[in-house]
Amino acid sequence: MYLYDKYEHIIYTMGLRYFNECFNTNIQAVTIGPFIFSDGKMSRVVSRHENIHVQQWLETGIFFPFIYAYDIMIGKINGLSWAEAYKSTRAEKEAYLNEKNPKYLITRKRWAWLKN
Ligand SMILES: [Zn+2]
Repeated sequence: MYLYDKYEHIIYTMGLRYFNECFNTNIQAVTIGPFIFSDGKMSRVVSRHENIHVQQWLETGIFFPFIYAYDIMIGKINGLSWAEAYKSTRAEKEAYLNEKNPKYLITRKRWAWLKN
């Protein structure tokens, strides 16, 4: 068993489907603080991706959305599209780079993603 499974237990998952239907979006999952909202059952990879964001939230608290927005703004200033700016944020870089590694959540270093 990984520490990852322990984190999964503190996560509250609920349907994002209603949001997607109301706003005609296709968001698979989103993490706000310790809460993961998902459209249906998450794969292990998506679950790990979102649990990385939970850890980032724990490390930065109320500052997380500001750090995220700041990184998007820097991406836009550098001429990136919205999709590219989203992928260029420090939070998403860590999550996408490590979402397929089953041991990542027990080996990751606290706050290391902020120093990139
Ligand atoms: Zn993400």
